[in-house]
Amino acid sequence: MTDRPLAFHDGSCTRCGATDDLVRLSEFGKAYCRACFPDAFQRRVLQTLRRYSMLRKGHLHVGVALSGGKDSSALLHALWTLRWRLNLRLSALHIHMGLGDYSDASLAAVTELTDRLSVPLVVERVADHGLQIQPVGTFAQCSVCGAVRRALMDRAGLREGWFAVATGHTMDDWLQQMLKRLLTGRLDAPKPVLPGDEFHPRKIKPLSLMPDEACREYVTIAGLPIVAGQCSHFAPDTHRLKQVFALLESLAPTGKQQLVNTLMKAMKAPPPGGPDRPCPECGQPTGTDVCPLCRLRRYGQ
Ligand SMILES: [Zn+2]
Ligand SMILES: [Zn+2]
Repeated sequence: MTDRPLAFHDGSCTRCGATDDLVRLSEFGKAYCRACFPDAFQRRVLQTLRRYSMLRKGHLHVGVALSGGKDSSALLHALWTLRWRLNLRLSALHIHMGLGDYSDASLAAVTELTDRLSVPLVVERVADHGLQIQPVGTFAQCSVCGAVRRALMDRAGLREGWFAVATGHTMDDWLQQMLKRLLTGRLDAPKPVLPGDEFHPRKIKPLSLMPDEACREYVTIAGLPIVAGQCSHFAPDTHRLKQVFALLESLAPTGKQQLVNTLMKAMKAPPPGGPDRPCPECGQPTGTDVCPLCRLRRYGQ
């Protein structure tokens, strides 16, 4: 990391002046020592919650979607440290995807983290819905996995009656989604807050302005348990656009942040397609002819 071009800091911690063992993230525009970095991370989460009006006044119950990976684990921990200040009650939601050892290891990591923080954990199992994750037609398994995870998250979020479901989408995820849309001719930006309706819980993405790298540093410094390795079904093709942003950042520090701001202003089109229709098989609203869960069920038969 030290070979990145960094024009913004003078080689000492912005907060305490320490010069050893610095965390240098160009998107932060500053360097922090390891003792000061978690606080800077939490403040950035707080700023993001406020900037996009993700919460509202009053005592709120928020469910954090926890995968066992670095981003959502960092998110839960940061919200947990901010819970008194934000007047939040927290629960965690884990979707067990039924993908063998990796899914079991993910569940073990989220169980350890939520036990440590005394946060109640809700586990939703794909298998309990009579489903098994597999490639469907031309869709890669990662896309199927994502669609099923979102559908189960929606159902669990509504059932639990939470004010919102918070997800660990980072700035890199956001940019990747924007670029995917641009490449397919869509000019509507993905939103950091989805207000929710009768069929969808409110969704908030408090890490929208947090680079992936910051989450990696945070879980390391805070010593949070996360699942090691990668899902054995990981399809690199689904995620490769992130390389574009890594390159951008190496060429232009804070380039990612600027790109987010510019694209948010530019991508103002309404989302394509009409309103969701009820799925003919299960009645849940869907933008496609059959909802993702029922499509997967058909393939499993
Ligand atoms: Zn410091
Ligand atoms: Zn359906």
